[in-house]
Amino acid sequence: MATIGWIGLGNMGLPMTKNLITAGHSVRGYDLSESARSAAEANGVTACTTIAEAVAGADAVFGMLPNGTISKEVFCGAGGVLEFAEPTALLIDSSTIDVASAREIHETAQQAGFAFVDAPVSGGISGAAAATLTFMLGGDPADTARAKELVEPMAGNIFDCGGPGNGQAAKIVNNMMLTVSLQGAAEGAVLADKLGLDAQTFWNVASVSSGDSWPLRTWYPVPGIVETAASNNGFEATFSAALAHKDAGLAQAAAADVGVTLPGAKAAFENLQKLMDDGYADMDCSLIIRNIDPQAPG
Ligand code: NAD
Repeated sequence: MATIGWIGLGNMGLPMTKNLITAGHSVRGYDLSESARSAAEANGVTACTTIAEAVAGADAVFGMLPNGTISKEVFCGAGGVLEFAEPTALLIDSSTIDVASAREIHETAQQAGFAFVDAPVSGGISGAAAATLTFMLGGDPADTARAKELVEPMAGNIFDCGGPGNGQAAKIVNNMMLTVSLQGAAEGAVLADKLGLDAQTFWNVASVSSGDSWPLRTWYPVPGIVETAASNNGFEATFSAALAHKDAGLAQAAAADVGVTLPGAKAAFENLQKLMDDGYADMDCSLIIRNIDPQAPG
């Protein structure tokens, strides 16, 4: 069994580390937030107050952090992982970040003699808790093969997407499709209501018909229909508007880089931007239903 250093013990990092511990690994965790460290400690993580302490003696080090700037700082910055990790440790970033930052970390890690894998995930906090996350790996084949064994206790599916940064590329495209589907599910919920359909009846139809989608089945923005939905809980974030907006923005930037226009994705991004502008960054992204109908149930 391995000793694993873990940086970032938030909504995702907390349940993910719990599954590593259940599988018999020991986890040494660091987070800037004291409350995140305490919650992790209650789950069996050895809470550390510096990155240096968390990575000491670790066979592998994971990051589960908000964005590329923070991942670069945590892995490559002063006092960061590259400075203190064991030279043989496999470094894995499961945060969702831009492809360019991921490739920069790959290059800096390689120059410092480390094996690094980008390994973003899909499945949300419910998938993290149930150990059914989809992992998308990018890196050298020998390193992604090592990463596969380590992520297995947290995963439902593991895909090797190719070279450095390719895991992030797959994740960004996937989440672009997610925000477009969420927009569709929210618009469908409003239109069904306005046309006089009972919410549960319409959901029963759509979920076994061609209107089905992951957000419909997991995040339906009408309360009382889907157990895992934030709409049942005052739209307290399961996946915050800020994170969804970040991912939708990464897709817009990636599309601009390669010279394509994505009208549906752009509309979904602008709707998330409105949530941010209206002060709902920390609420769940499914609150976009309020942009379509301010009187929407919930
Ligand atoms: P979160 O905000 O709940 O957790 C991030 C944690 O990182 C926080 O506890 C924060 O204190 C900590 N942190 C920030 N800067 C730090 C630093 N410099 N050093 C140490 N700790 C630091 O976010 P989350 O929902 O757990 O998401 C983490 C990553 O996973 C993001 O990149 C997100 O896009 C991705 N993701 C999230 C979901 C989801 O449903 N929440 C799903 C898939 C992927």
